[in-house]
Amino acid sequence: MAEPLTLPGFVNAHSHAFQRALRGRSEGDDFWAWRESMLEVASGLTPGQVRKDYVDIYREMLGAGYTAVGEFHYLGLDEGFSAFEAAQEAGIGFVLLYAAYARGGIERFRQDSVARYLEQLESFREQGVRVGVAPHSVRACPPSWLEELGNYAVREELPLHVHADEQPREVEECIAEQGLRPIELLADCGCLGPRTTLVHATHADNHELDLIADAGARVCVCPTTEANLGDGFAPIEQLCERGIGICIGSDSNVVIDPLEELRELEGIARRRAGRRNVVPTGSLLCSGADEGAASLGLEAWDEIVVDLDHRSLHGVKEQDVLAALVSGCSADVLATTAA
Ligand SMILES: [Zn+2]
Repeated sequence: MAEPLTLPGFVNAHSHAFQRALRGRSEGDDFWAWRESMLEVASGLTPGQVRKDYVDIYREMLGAGYTAVGEFHYLGLDEGFSAFEAAQEAGIGFVLLYAAYARGGIERFRQDSVARYLEQLESFREQGVRVGVAPHSVRACPPSWLEELGNYAVREELPLHVHADEQPREVEECIAEQGLRPIELLADCGCLGPRTTLVHATHADNHELDLIADAGARVCVCPTTEANLGDGFAPIEQLCERGIGICIGSDSNVVIDPLEELRELEGIARRRAGRRNVVPTGSLLCSGADEGAASLGLEAWDEIVVDLDHRSLHGVKEQDVLAALVSGCSADVLATTAA
């Protein structure tokens, strides 16, 4: 029996738990067609169902070594409380990234005004729910909303999470409407700072990447979801060159396995760079844990234990275990310390 190996728990910085229901559904030719199915699932959910389903999904995350999750939530106020309660029951660290949604989507996603949104956000804070400000995207929030939300997040010292540059069409539409690319617009509206996390940034150009670096903001990549939806390749090397912090998210929860996210992240970087070890193992594990916690504003989260007797680690030398985790193990090699 080997001595147990303890690591900081993985942090899932970007989840839409309800989308787990879509993981076996293959209809739809692209992201936009998948989105139609997603909207259909979203429209039928009740607070009770969210409460019940999310407990299972958060337990699955814990079983896979994620000990904290940022739930990017746009299903409504009561459902937000349901998600919080589910996380408490499951015993996973939880930050509600409550989405601001001015336009598009379906009715339940939207608020009438920024004031109404902030009122709802305050009601979570009053009940002790940790929150982040989450303008859904430049698609869903016009500049006037972004400015107010950016101000509020800075004033209240809260994390700000926003989807950006996931799909080329989103970039084109933003240029057509505002004459700017999404991350340029976010910068203009005061939404880029050290507590900001850009989710995806798949199609960010060099100027946008420079803006992220200058602001000290982070990027959350969601490699298994981005692969599943055909989003494109995250610009891993360009992020690393600029010293931009990278964290990971299970996003649509098509896969719940932090090691697979990290393997895919590094796999993209290797394929594009034509070499090995683009992101060193230590940095990858830091992306999986510390960067995610910083992105969510968490100071403490539970640890995990590596099962050194697991078949996938047989014959691996002690000094190679961490690299073997990322390159060749699944999440079933991990267990949470909290029972
Ligand atoms: Zn998302």
